Amino acid sequence: MDFSWSPEDVAFGQELEAFLDKELPPFLEEWADDEAEASRGVTGAMEKRRAWQRKLNEGRWAAPLWPQEWGGRDATVSQQVLYTQIMARYRTPGIFNANGIVQIGPSIIAWGTDEQKARWLPGILDASEHWCQGFSEPQAGSDLANLRTTALLSEDGTHYVVNGQKTWTSTAQIAKWGLFLFRTDPGAIGRGAKHEGITAFVVDMESPGIEVRPIREITGDSMFCEVFFHDVRVPVGDRLGDEGLGWMVSMGALGKERVGSAGQAISMAQDLRRLLQTAKAENPEALRDPLVRERVARLHTQIEYTRLLIARALSKVLKGEKGWPEVPLAKLQWGYVSLWLAELALDVLGPTGTILKGAPGAIDGGVWARNYVWQRYTTIGAGPTEVQKNIIADRALKLER
Ligand SMILES: Cc1cc2nc3c(=O)[nH]c(=O)nc-3n(C[C@H](O)[C@H](O)[C@H](O)COP(=O)(O)OP(=O)(O)OC[C@H]3O[C@@H](n4cnc5c(N)ncnc54)[C@H](O)[C@@H]3O)c2cc1C
Repeated sequence: MDFSWSPEDVAFGQELEAFLDKELPPFLEEWADDEAEASRGVTGAMEKRRAWQRKLNEGRWAAPLWPQEWGGRDATVSQQVLYTQIMARYRTPGIFNANGIVQIGPSIIAWGTDEQKARWLPGILDASEHWCQGFSEPQAGSDLANLRTTALLSEDGTHYVVNGQKTWTSTAQIAKWGLFLFRTDPGAIGRGAKHEGITAFVVDMESPGIEVRPIREITGDSMFCEVFFHDVRVPVGDRLGDEGLGWMVSMGALGKERVGSAGQAISMAQDLRRLLQTAKAENPEALRDPLVRERVARLHTQIEYTRLLIARALSKVLKGEKGWPEVPLAKLQWGYVSLWLAELALDVLGPTGTILKGAPGAIDGGVWARNYVWQRYTTIGAGPTEVQKNIIADRALKLER
């Protein structure tokens, strides 16, 4: 495996680093007030994210994967990996429209009409409109094709009428638009063809009949929501792709192979180093415990394995092969390793490690305490651990059912 980057990739990376060297320090200084950020809640943190995405967009660094004509850079797979790694190394803030840039925008680029692209892409990119993605329902998560929310064409053929419920829709409470999957053929499940009859729509979240209820999470925040639809009218012109193509719209993004988890190995390595520094200052005795030392060494090794696994996936993709089974394996690794790291943190920091952000005495702004509960997410989001294992057992190991 050749670990070196091409001259074009090196130039791409250097341009990004020069941008970050210039723009990131003043930005972080301007938004340094952690206490104020804690009190601003989900929408407060979003203002910082909006400002950072706008800054990135000024340098055309908000959506490098998008085509140039829509404000991107047509980044190649290796540039995409490099981008993720550099952003992780610089510990850049999150962006305002993460879903919009990574998932929704590419779906609109792939499936939207020219009119739809012109209407929606600029607002995603310049962070003037927030977007959410509503796929999951109470009975349709891992088994997404079981979704039941219906969108039925009106008699005059001008709009669809939507009824049903979505759940876990991140940041729906601040979204202007959402990409949703609805069932336009309610008979498909009964026919045993549940992947059929699903259609993608862009929904104006201010439409009458939409009720958004934030869900309070284990972290204390309300990042995601239930979304209820009561006879909501969605214009025919807001359908993305033809009727029945929703499954493909939701799966396809620009037709480019993705290499997942590219930045996570770097972020986790940085988090481990930061944790050890904090522990040395706050609770040095814990680091003399041989069992703790073994856990640290094991974590370090696992993080390095993850990095190499991702490099192997990239190497395959660059040769025109699928990043398989490395990509689902890396997702599995990420789920485990980030949980081990979160648990190690509370064990080495002792009781003060549990103090949450905003409270007096919180270590590193309470990040480790929050991380301990937040990291449960990595075993669920982007495909739960058990489902990843099923995929690997089925398709890579070809185990019998
Ligand atoms: C932080 C966060 C943000 C999210 N944001 C969004 C969003 O913006 N939009 C959106 O649409 N969704 C969102 N989701 C939802 C996410 O996509 C679902 O949680 C995920 O698809 C799992 O579905 P579920 O929660 O219904 O769990 P289920 O699918 O019901 O799974 C429950 C448990 O059963 C296990 N299980 C399920 N099927 C199998 C099987 N076949 N074999 C073995 N075990 C199985 C799972 O591994 C899991 O442990 C978010 C989730 C999280 C945690």
